[in-house]
Amino acid sequence: MLDPFAGGGAIPLEALRLGCDVYASDYNPVAVLILKAVLEYPQKYGEKLVEDVRKWGEWVLEEAKKEIGRFYPNDVVEQKGYFGKSGEEYIPVGYIWARTIPCQNPSCGAEIPLMRQFWLAKKSNKKVALYTYVDGEEVKFKVVGDGYEPMPEDFDPSKGTVKGAIATCLVCGSTVDAKTTRKLFQEGKAGERMVAVVLHHPKKKGKFYRVANEKDIEVFRQAEEYLAEKVEELRKKWGIEPIPDEPLRRVPITFGVINVWVYGMNTWGDLFNSRQKLALITFVDKVREAYRRMVEEGYEEEYARGVVTYLGLAVDKIADYCNTICQWRNNLETVGHIFARQAIQMMWDYVEGNPVTGASGTWRGSVEWILRSISFTKIFSIMM
Ligand SMILES: [Zn+2]
Repeated sequence: MLDPFAGGGAIPLEALRLGCDVYASDYNPVAVLILKAVLEYPQKYGEKLVEDVRKWGEWVLEEAKKEIGRFYPNDVVEQKGYFGKSGEEYIPVGYIWARTIPCQNPSCGAEIPLMRQFWLAKKSNKKVALYTYVDGEEVKFKVVGDGYEPMPEDFDPSKGTVKGAIATCLVCGSTVDAKTTRKLFQEGKAGERMVAVVLHHPKKKGKFYRVANEKDIEVFRQAEEYLAEKVEELRKKWGIEPIPDEPLRRVPITFGVINVWVYGMNTWGDLFNSRQKLALITFVDKVREAYRRMVEEGYEEEYARGVVTYLGLAVDKIADYCNTICQWRNNLETVGHIFARQAIQMMWDYVEGNPVTGASGTWRGSVEWILRSISFTKIFSIMM
């Protein structure tokens, strides 16, 4: 069976299932890589491949943790609050951010946190939201709802501060029209603010929430500083720009497929915040390191390439979950991914997941996903 333009390999895979001799090719290098991962390596290397992808996947995670784990510190409860006992440790699953613009009312100028809505958990048995209040000229947040301070009766968390790029100031009540909002982003006058932290306890059900504090922002700033160092190091090591600086394709806004450039995101790298950039380039670095290690330890080069191909795909998978277009899925309390829609569209408020631990969109979760796929495609070689 010959499929010269096999794409993702569905036809050759089915042909393998029927026991045919299969030849597949494509002129798109992404398709070729997928074909190798789906059709070639699992048949060629079988169970050993599964073991090594798991083993080296763990190695990559441990190495990455040594370097960037400190930028996702656990929360140690100091005194009893709405949840947790003193001394208990909680793992950060994600950080919720709101992009911001300055209010355009000349007598106000407050920072407007742009949020589509304020729900953190919107389930039949659990309702938690972020409640905003004005303190002086500043907008502040607190967590309200089940397990927290009661939700004020007149508060509707579904009503956000931005709709169709029209923003409303919570301090003075004036609005910023869509054209001005876009202009502020293009001119670099927009910012972002970490508003909440999502936590998880290994022995407890569900997620816990608290408002972001000075310490969270300080850790983020440290990650930002370390990113500058890491970029410098990798630029020398790789001989290319470590953070993708290629321009985003400017699809006209009416098509709506990629509209983020309207908000001043001009390169692929602009889709990530500093800590996300740091995490992604660190994982890439460790995957490349894994290849060198494997060869040093006597693995065949071709085989080592096969193993790290899957680890490279795991980096792709976390990139899908570690960008500023990811939505906090309040109905499931999980981190969403960019390709929930077949589009790259502005996300006013987003969740920054924790790739080194936690739940969806983590390194370990991505490797596990890939291992299941290898095991599945490998079955066919046994059938043959
Ligand atoms: Zn205002």
